[in-house]
Amino acid sequence: MLVDTYGRVATDLRVSLTDRCNLRCTYCMPEEGLRWLGKPELLTDDEIVRLVRIAVTGLGVTEVRFTGGEPLLRPGLPGIVERCAALEPRPRLSLTTNGIGLARIAPALRAAGLDRVNVSLDTLRPEVFKTLTRRDRHRDVVEGLLAARAAGLDPVKVNTVLMPGLNDDEAPDLLAWAIENGYELRFIEQMPLDAQHGWQRDGMITAGDVLASLRTRFTLTAEGEEIRGSAPAERWLVDGGPYRVGVIASVTRPFCAACDRTRLTADGQVRTCLFAREETDLRAALRAGEPDEEIARIWRRAMWGKKAGSGLDDPAFLQPDRPMSAIGG
Ligand code: SAM
Ligand code: SF4
Repeated sequence: MLVDTYGRVATDLRVSLTDRCNLRCTYCMPEEGLRWLGKPELLTDDEIVRLVRIAVTGLGVTEVRFTGGEPLLRPGLPGIVERCAALEPRPRLSLTTNGIGLARIAPALRAAGLDRVNVSLDTLRPEVFKTLTRRDRHRDVVEGLLAARAAGLDPVKVNTVLMPGLNDDEAPDLLAWAIENGYELRFIEQMPLDAQHGWQRDGMITAGDVLASLRTRFTLTAEGEEIRGSAPAERWLVDGGPYRVGVIASVTRPFCAACDRTRLTADGQVRTCLFAREETDLRAALRAGEPDEEIARIWRRAMWGKKAGSGLDDPAFLQPDRPMSAIGG
């Protein structure tokens, strides 16, 4: 198992399939100038499936989420999903995507064995979407969401980041829309993972702000810790239920003590945390011909060194060199 010195066990693997993206969300990527990984640096489909197999069959991983960058830009995605779904024990398979192209590929992904999907959408207003993502693709995302639901991906979750002065007035409208469409909405606090290093704690919209805004229109009742488990989202029943809304307060209410994540970047580096400044190279071991047992040993050793927390509250906190798009959110 992937255990650390604080007794946490990582069972949830996030795999970044690419650092590239067809949007340029301001809280994640710069408009231009980011250096992309070259093809030889990227793990191949076979290497990804091998690492997932080692994690699932030898290291106790039960959940695998594909992310990026934009994972739908990876041509081999359906094949990767299908091969991971054939593993024994079968992991639960999910995807985090910006939804562009999902309308076309959702049925194939479902057929390949994908269980559920998170689609990122920050606004109901196309012109605000264009400002936030620097691309005019709002309609593609909405169509992608509809197709995901129609394909039987369940649940379909929507990830939303609120940015001051842009979409921070939209929380109640987004929740009403999500309820109407059967999507589970989760607000994510903006984290210091933007490529421009422009994040400011004072300027961010906090979980407290989100809840206050939602309460202007809805009654929210907290779900207990026993239901939350290691999930990062704190969940609230909306108007007595059954609908729920989640808030991921990575900055103001960190959940590091319950973290069960291990991460793999698109170039085969293990990260113990989004905010880690160290990485462990599995790609080199793969390409040196090391056997599964040795790769599992290196992965276990990396996770053993996982720090207690993100360090966000430490005055000496330093943002990781890689932005969110290159780590895998
Ligand atoms: N491109 C896909 C997408 O947007 O869903 C997957 C990768 S993206 C990095 C994963 C999630 O991270 C998205 O929901 C996005 O909104 C979120 N994200 C990106 N940068 C963030 C930041 N600085 N703070 C909080 N969430 C962020
Ligand atoms: Fe691309 Fe996702 Fe980052 Fe937006 S949040 S720029 S969609 S990787």
